[in-house]
Amino acid sequence: MAYINLGPYQPLMSEYPLTGEKHPRRFQSHWFKSYLWLEYSEKNIAFCFPYYLFPSKPSRKSGSDTFIVKRFNCWKKVNDGEWCEFLTHMGKCPYSAHRFATRCLENLKN
Ligand SMILES: [Zn+2]
Repeated sequence: MAYINLGPYQPLMSEYPLTGEKHPRRFQSHWFKSYLWLEYSEKNIAFCFPYYLFPSKPSRKSGSDTFIVKRFNCWKKVNDGEWCEFLTHMGKCPYSAHRFATRCLENLKN
């Protein structure tokens, strides 16, 4: 519960490390405002806080499992229109793995 009460780790840095070879990009701190579930590791990787705590099998729920299966740091896939990796992870369906994990987290807090 102590870990949950701390919430996602969202360190504010003036510049995050670059990733990518051809067109290097950085993590952007303003993403924390749009995606409250977003957690940033200083190993330069993004996580989904609820999904990290309550992962469910992707075969049963829609939405991308990128944030738990792969170590996401492909920043060029963020805010790429409807193909934004963060939006894809959240999924459109109310029963997506992300929304399911978020409900599990809220239920536990309550
Ligand atoms: Zn998620």
